[in-house]
Amino acid sequence: MDIDKIREEFPILAQEVYKKPLVYLDNAATTQKPKVVIDAISNAYCTINANVHRGVHHLSQLSTEGHEGGRERVRQFINAKSTKEIIFTRGTTESINLVASSFGEAFLNEGDEVIISAMEHHSNIVPWQMLESKKGIKLRVIPITPNGELDIDAFRKLLNERTKLISVAHVSNVLGTINPIKDIVEEAHKINVPVLVDGAQGAPHIKIDVQALDVDFYVFSGHKMYAPTGIGVLYGKEKWLEAMPPYQGGGEMIAKVTFEKTTFNELPFKFEAGTPDYVGVMAMTAALDYIENVGIENIAAHETGLLQYTTSKLSEIEGITIYGNATHKSGVISFNVDGIHPYDIGMLLDKQGVAVRTGHLCAQPLMDLLGIPGVVRASFALYNTHEECDKFIVALQRAIEICR
Ligand code: PLP
Repeated sequence: MDIDKIREEFPILAQEVYKKPLVYLDNAATTQKPKVVIDAISNAYCTINANVHRGVHHLSQLSTEGHEGGRERVRQFINAKSTKEIIFTRGTTESINLVASSFGEAFLNEGDEVIISAMEHHSNIVPWQMLESKKGIKLRVIPITPNGELDIDAFRKLLNERTKLISVAHVSNVLGTINPIKDIVEEAHKINVPVLVDGAQGAPHIKIDVQALDVDFYVFSGHKMYAPTGIGVLYGKEKWLEAMPPYQGGGEMIAKVTFEKTTFNELPFKFEAGTPDYVGVMAMTAALDYIENVGIENIAAHETGLLQYTTSKLSEIEGITIYGNATHKSGVISFNVDGIHPYDIGMLLDKQGVAVRTGHLCAQPLMDLLGIPGVVRASFALYNTHEECDKFIVALQRAIEICR
């Protein structure tokens, strides 16, 4: 990978912050966008913008081709069987809410259990909690081991005849742990329980093959993988999506409407009420092309190199605690410095041009479990360099000096 060339493709990276070169290490929150993605948005609005599906005119046909071509692109990217299984949403959060609402309506009743894990993002906790109060289901939580891995023995013990769904993160946004999805799916399928995987932190870094993983649902956000905000994906096996009722009502999702009765459109449109974000889909197509041109395995290898390098440098600093030391770990380092609030570290890093995330990272139950109010998190993308990791370490040492 030619990192210098890659960096030139991301205009925002050339910026200075407080007269210091920007070191952007907040990629797990959102990634920066390459020029091809920004151009795809601009081109769509400059040359083909028209609403999709309903128009007979030239521009509408081009727009529809771009939108449906994007669906096929996503299908290939995750190796789904059919484009019927690719539903466009606003992102991971909306995808999980869609499943919670629709699967919940069709298949969950009082006393049924949904299993999540202790390392979930609020997006994969709250929608299920809402079903606890709405339908009387019960949430069960897989505990984690001291190094931040799922306790698989405990998971096996949680499975029982009341279990109706398992919903777990592919990769933890706090600990970086890459969870053994295939093993979880195998266990769950032994008792015919479907598995939803929150791939917000998985799809940007790991080659996803939904058929090989045999997951029932896989969800992710475009903006964490070099695509724009506001566009995301719900993959669902056709048999589940067919059996689930629509999530929202409106245009696009209908076959026929009368005042007496409405029949619904076929998949995937049944779940896509209203004008879709077709420009977002076209730009996401450009982002997926971009990732595949670089090679997701190359991206992962580069990020793992940065993770190992930075982890070892960070470990040399006195008073650092790193959270999450899983054997299989993605490019995320969450840590604290003894006696210093994470927010102070974040502010002082920012003043030196280094962008990191601080706080509970939308994982308050995990923070409670760890007994901390929050963490500082550095997270990597394909355009980060070893030189930036050094700058981060120097800036962190300076921040610690100031606070002590
Ligand atoms: N799940 C995980 C593991 C995440 O890291 C995030 C975002 O940080 C989300 C879900 C929510 O993603 P979005 O805000 O794009 O819907």
